[in-house]
Amino acid sequence: MSAPPRVLTVAGSDSGGGAGIQADLKTMLAFGVHGMSVLTAVTAQNSLGVQGAWELPVEAVRAQYRSVVDDIGVQAVKTGMLASAELVETVAELIGGTEAPAVVDPVGVSKHGDSLLAASALDSVRTKLLPVATVATPNLDEVAQLTGVRVESEDGLRRAAAALLSYGPKWALIKGGHLSGDAGRVGGGQAVDFLTDGSEEHWLRAPRLDNRHTHGTGCTLASAIASGLAKGQSVPEAVAAAKEYVTGAIADGFALGGGIGPVDHGW
Ligand code: PLP
Repeated sequence: MSAPPRVLTVAGSDSGGGAGIQADLKTMLAFGVHGMSVLTAVTAQNSLGVQGAWELPVEAVRAQYRSVVDDIGVQAVKTGMLASAELVETVAELIGGTEAPAVVDPVGVSKHGDSLLAASALDSVRTKLLPVATVATPNLDEVAQLTGVRVESEDGLRRAAAALLSYGPKWALIKGGHLSGDAGRVGGGQAVDFLTDGSEEHWLRAPRLDNRHTHGTGCTLASAIASGLAKGQSVPEAVAAAKEYVTGAIADGFALGGGIGPVDHGW
């Protein structure tokens, strides 16, 4: 049997299995690619929030990356929780030296409001990580933090994407879902995402789902995009397929523990 495409996630662990590398590897399995992981941080986490977080040493991140890339090779990389400026810069350097496309999910704060990235790391994300990204996938809070653009309308999505592209990623995918619940603000009740490379524009619309169990949505979307890229799809093709997958995963998100449950990867 020939080997499936290989995809590497560089991200944090969610002990509750809903987000982070656990969501990434489940998504990659669903997409039929071989998932591999470089762990950046360990979180003690459940449906109620993040109870603790510990970064790995820079050498441990570097060594994991080299082990995977130098022997097995990768067709796409995805980054998630990077925790500190030091780790952001290390990962940016490693990705910059690898030919494979990179999907950068600039993870800032979890749905429970727990910080997954030090404020002091934002500048490194802007100046080191975004320039080596093939696609950057911020949500509205993350793009506001990175660019200062607060999105309140579909035109705001365009402005936020342009501001993000000025830092150097080839494509910007701005996830508008968070605002779509406020009727009349963005999307008219639909979850709207906007993808552009500065010339092409793609509006991705899906029904807004009334399910609070959405833990791991961002990780799942970015991993699905990376899986599509590893299979040779274009960025717009991979993003469209990823959006469809994540919409199904949110529809089937389920209760676990006493708080916010995970999206479902088993459909
Ligand atoms: N925990 C880890 C390790 C993550 O990487 C992420 C998101 O990227 C989260 C938690 C946050 O997940 P959510 O905001 O979907 O609850």
